[in-house]
Amino acid sequence: MDILKTKSDMREWSKKKKKDSKTICLVPTMGYFHQGHISLMEKGKPLCDELVVSLFVNPAQFGPNEDLNSYPSNIENDLALAEKAGVTAVFLPDKKNIYPENFQTQIKLQDLPKFLCGKFRPVHFAGVATVVTKLFNIVMPDIAIFGQKDYQQLQIIKQLTLDLDFDIKIMAGDIIREKDGLAMSSRNAYLSKVQRTSALSLSKSLNLAKELIAGGEKNPAAVKNRIEAFICTFPETNIEYISFCNPKTLENIDSIENHVLLAIAVKVGKTRLIDNALINPAQ
Ligand code: AMP
Repeated sequence: MDILKTKSDMREWSKKKKKDSKTICLVPTMGYFHQGHISLMEKGKPLCDELVVSLFVNPAQFGPNEDLNSYPSNIENDLALAEKAGVTAVFLPDKKNIYPENFQTQIKLQDLPKFLCGKFRPVHFAGVATVVTKLFNIVMPDIAIFGQKDYQQLQIIKQLTLDLDFDIKIMAGDIIREKDGLAMSSRNAYLSKVQRTSALSLSKSLNLAKELIAGGEKNPAAVKNRIEAFICTFPETNIEYISFCNPKTLENIDSIENHVLLAIAVKVGKTRLIDNALINPAQ
């Protein structure tokens, strides 16, 4: 497994592989790998000749009061897990290499960031879109894989790939969960024992919503009220949003008729957790 620490080394590596007609798949990450990250690598492995993982905690996607400085990291362990998953190159740049002095360009989407997490994290998606655009230009992958766990991010990346004419196939990986249902996240490492139990309120809410909808409930407000009351029974929870929306546009919906996205963000203590489910009332 090659480790490339600068964008020029990474680009040279990719150019050489392309010259040899190798296809490249990219899995962008911020590290501190769990099975969610590994599942994306496993999905990509059979689809390409070269599997590249980028590991970069992107400062541009953190707000001023967010957890940039405490974001968990264990690079040695990440490299061992990546190698085990069959990764052929890890792109491990430092911040100065990605954002040199006088860096001044931002990629901003018009509509998709107005909803869900974008409402509460005003700089987040411009930071994500900018770094992913840079990663696409540096690594030049044929395929890039992102998790459905960050559903809004996935939609934003699909849109920017279309808008900016990247010749890259964007693929989605299913949400990987702990045995008890908690969606895996590097940020779960922040949770105390009590908070870990409260964190389950997110996945349990998604199940509660599915049950209510299967029982014929079509009113998003009614389901939302039930979920809200349910989450509030768990200690240290603070709901940021519960949204029923159109899975493509992310706009709120008035009635649960077709496929809907239910997306939830809850602060458990100081840790912000998200989860979501695509729900089809016909099923
Ligand atoms: P991160 O390192 O948190 O930026 O995540 C890197 C990639 O892994 C993103 O595409 C995430 O959506 C994806 N990811 C994070 N958690 C999960 C999970 N539980 N299941 C599947 N993919 C995930």
